[in-house]
Amino acid sequence: MSVLVVGSVALDDVETPAGRADGVLGGAASYFSVAASFFEKVRAVGVVGEDFPAEHLEFLASCGIDISGIATEKGKTFRWGGVYSESMSERETRFTELGVFEEFAPELGAAHRGSEFVFLANIHPSLQLQIVEQADSPRFVAMDTMNFWIEGAPAELERVLARVDALVINDEEARQLSGEHNLVLAAAALRGRGPATVIIKRGEYGCLLFGPDQVFSAPAYPLEVVRDPTGAGDCFAGGFVGALARAGDLSPEAFRRAVIYGSVVASFCCEHFSLGGLRDLSIEAIESRFEEFRSLTRF
Ligand code: AMP
Repeated sequence: MSVLVVGSVALDDVETPAGRADGVLGGAASYFSVAASFFEKVRAVGVVGEDFPAEHLEFLASCGIDISGIATEKGKTFRWGGVYSESMSERETRFTELGVFEEFAPELGAAHRGSEFVFLANIHPSLQLQIVEQADSPRFVAMDTMNFWIEGAPAELERVLARVDALVINDEEARQLSGEHNLVLAAAALRGRGPATVIIKRGEYGCLLFGPDQVFSAPAYPLEVVRDPTGAGDCFAGGFVGALARAGDLSPEAFRRAVIYGSVVASFCCEHFSLGGLRDLSIEAIESRFEEFRSLTRF
């Protein structure tokens, strides 16, 4: 079942204890699309400037992603810079330059509107809302956001929250958005504002899913080498929504399996800078790490 995503398509400057990478392919929609493309057909919606290297669009297209919804406009591509702490568990944003996203107002075509699974990746909530409003009754809509929008556009964010089935968010942002420090209370508060399912990502500590029928906890894959965690959250969301769409099933069991697929794809993402960890990845390698998760958690 087809997956539609809207979100940032970016050029990132990233510094981690393992090195640095400047002007590399990033953006929430880029990471999400590539991650989800291992499971299902993905249509990406976003905008880039005239400075965006053609090779990045070619790469996305080579993953089978429909990039007809990624417009190229006069102006600068979204740019983001971040630096990670020694343990890589904390990150500081150095700059966020919206560029062509400032004026972007997508008009979805018929194929895009008919997508059954929709992911509102990290971007201005008013843009996320435009996508929800144009989609023809999708089966499942999920969203992400971050501190930049929680602080900068709270009213619009609240309106999107009320329209989605699931919120996929990291622990600090869950605390900030809910005003609750305890994650169980934070999830309950957020579920009360719209999404029936809330997934809280906890980096190297894994994630927690709070749904109508279950609470599920998954570890992160124990990695020996972490070079760059940027995009891990978007890859988690891409693996999660992609696997749900492939299964075409929204049962509690399907949600659990999809959470593990999300964790698997996120783990590959962290092993290299930018999208390097996903470039030569195969569905066989994903399935094999999925099986490793079984032995990791069986007792
Ligand atoms: P993650 O590590 O999963 O939070 O995703 C990082 C990606 O999100 C980077 O590639 C950035 O280009 C992108 N990003 C950072 N800040 C924002 C923002 N305020 N809105 C949209 N995308 C962003």
